[in-house]
Amino acid sequence: MKTLKCPQCDIHRFVVKNALDEGVVVTVNEHCEVIPVHINDSFVGFDLTVIYCLGCSWYGSPKSLSKGKHR
Ligand SMILES: [Zn+2]
Repeated sequence: MKTLKCPQCDIHRFVVKNALDEGVVVTVNEHCEVIPVHINDSFVGFDLTVIYCLGCSWYGSPKSLSKGKHR
């Protein structure tokens, strides 16, 4: 499965956060869908519209990653 990469640092792991600032590590597939790295992690209460890069300070919507690959 193809995963989208951070437009700044080119890694493909991100974190989504909930209201308690807890994080779940995710990847984003080529359809801009957010997928948990650990299959048992739940997305209940998590905001999937903003993802935070694990490798740098980039954050944004999953859809904005698909633009980055054309750089
Ligand atoms: Zn990054």
